[in-house]
Amino acid sequence: MPEKETIFHKIIRREIPASIVYEDDEVMAFKDKHPKAKTHLLFIAKKESDFVPSINDLDEKTAHVPLLLIRKAQALAKSKGIDGYQLKFHVGKGGGQEVFFLHLHFLSEQKIND
Ligand code: AMP
Repeated sequence: MPEKETIFHKIIRREIPASIVYEDDEVMAFKDKHPKAKTHLLFIAKKESDFVPSINDLDEKTAHVPLLLIRKAQALAKSKGIDGYQLKFHVGKGGGQEVFFLHLHFLSEQKIND
């Protein structure tokens, strides 16, 4: 499926600023600009081959992406001393999804230790 450019593509390319809290070759995590919890991060995949708009669009090539994001969220939580959090995917317009670049919401009432 042809992909539409989103604000998260621009964040990966550093064309617009974001408060990045974690990054490696595969994943980036940055602060949500309208936080709904003390800590509200978004995890996205960075590799073009992992780009997919939504959980609704997953196929054999991208099925691993949600688990990749979850594993990175788990690792970041551990490294930052957060042991209670929520992980959410908004799926489709009816599910509250606004940005059609697959992302995992990480919410916690524990503050991240910078
Ligand atoms: P969703 O409803 O799952 O599509 O969530 C999109 C999220 O992206 C919302 O929580 C927005 O606050 C957040 N968001 C949109 N633009 C930016 C941005 N430039 N930097 C950080 N977060 C953003």
